[in-house]
Amino acid sequence: MENNLLVYNPVEEPTPEPLMQVTVCGTLIPIVFVANLRAEDGDACDGLFIAEVPFIAIDSSLHSARASAILFHEIGHAAMLLSGAGYLLDKKSKKNQSGELEEELMRVFIPSFLAAIETIQGAT
Ligand SMILES: [Zn+2]
Repeated sequence: MENNLLVYNPVEEPTPEPLMQVTVCGTLIPIVFVANLRAEDGDACDGLFIAEVPFIAIDSSLHSARASAILFHEIGHAAMLLSGAGYLLDKKSKKNQSGELEEELMRVFIPSFLAAIETIQGAT
């Protein structure tokens, strides 16, 4: 899923009607499930966040737990971009390293964040 924003061309691969949507930083993002999802380079991938449209695509063959994990990962990419955190990452990282760094951050941060959320206890 590295550099997915740049390698997937939604014009060449029409997307199905979205079954779900999420609002990230005030932007409504459709979520579509696509059979045999592939990046523009032809490599199979489990999910993509396409910033230009925007939308999130998830491979429809994934079982629900994996699809959820991938969806949260892609929402993380959307939040990075739309919150401005991606800009900060660009600014603070070495030249041309921010995409790789963002991917690594999403892979470690999102599962840890979600696991922590699930452990919240006590009166709210
Ligand atoms: Zn990713």
